[in-house]
Amino acid sequence: MRVYNFSAGPSTLPLEVLKKAQDEFLDFAGTGMSVTEISHRDKAYEAVVRDAENLTRELLKVPDDYCVIFVQGGASTQFAAVPLNLMHSGKADYIVTGNFAKKAWQEGQLYGEAVKIGDSSDKVYTYIPDVDKLSYTEGADYVHITSNNTIFGTRYVKFPACEAPLVADMSSEIFSREIDVSKFGVIYAGAQKNLAPAGVTIVIAKRSLIQDPLKICPTMLRWKVQDENGSLYNTPPAFSIYMADLVLKNLKEKGGVAAMNEAATYKANLLYDFIDNSKLYKNNVVPEFRSIMNVPFVTGSDELDAKFVSEAKKNGLVSLKGHRLVGGMRASIYNAMPAEGVKALIEFMKKFERENA
Ligand SMILES: *Cc1c(COP(=O)(O)O)cnc(C)c1O
Repeated sequence: MRVYNFSAGPSTLPLEVLKKAQDEFLDFAGTGMSVTEISHRDKAYEAVVRDAENLTRELLKVPDDYCVIFVQGGASTQFAAVPLNLMHSGKADYIVTGNFAKKAWQEGQLYGEAVKIGDSSDKVYTYIPDVDKLSYTEGADYVHITSNNTIFGTRYVKFPACEAPLVADMSSEIFSREIDVSKFGVIYAGAQKNLAPAGVTIVIAKRSLIQDPLKICPTMLRWKVQDENGSLYNTPPAFSIYMADLVLKNLKEKGGVAAMNEAATYKANLLYDFIDNSKLYKNNVVPEFRSIMNVPFVTGSDELDAKFVSEAKKNGLVSLKGHRLVGGMRASIYNAMPAEGVKALIEFMKKFERENA
């Protein structure tokens, strides 16, 4: 039996996509081979990479002067790639709104002056600082943000309107939110949250910004090199890109990013409304900044939280344990989580409240 999987990542994928992958697993595109066995130089495979790129361009309305590349190493490797490709003057701004934002800032410090211009750790990252009131560093090479904070369940409502190129880690919300790509210098996202299995990271970058990586930048981390080689500079994470392509096709059939945004808002509202009206559960995020992808909540008792997680599991609602930095529970409700899954969670929460309040 399939469960409703609320894992923050790797996370649930659309059932239709899993079935399609299963159907063609032994014989991909009439080649008589699995997609995991075929050469990445084979025309049949190259078509997959190009399709994934084109669908990304179409679904996110990526301008032509931006590259779309698929790379390895997870979003964490991009924490280094960002300064290595962009930090020419040796200084950049970081807004620290969570654990991954902090890690990106710390990685930036390895390569230059990474200036922390905003920080919401004073209130356990339950809000996003006012981006209009921050002191941006003059001459900074870029401003780095984490648009959706996976662990703490916050998201930017408004993005900084800074002079320096805006660089955003969108790992846990890409393809669920309509964005104007032209307002960003670089967007990157590890796939295993809202797109595909782990192993591939998508990078969308304005080409004019990435022509002159630092001398010490490893070849593999040079976005320019990956772009010039159409994401096939070396052996790519072939299966993950193939899965990403299937998910993107599925997403387009379902109405694209606008439809995903609408569905995500609907699902998140159901859950937040229920939590806000219950006596037992509480979400501590400032409402304005609540994520529509990751919803943390607590009962106020560690013992009851643990009981919740274990009983939910027995009811086919899995991976609801919160991140160790926050405790309690977290429901990640990415694009592939059906509304029925969220409704089933709410029904379980009601029952648990009746029995334990
Ligand atoms: C999960 C996550 C990361 C880390 O991703 P890896 O692929 O494990 O390196 C970075 N940023 C955000 C926002 C994430 O959610």
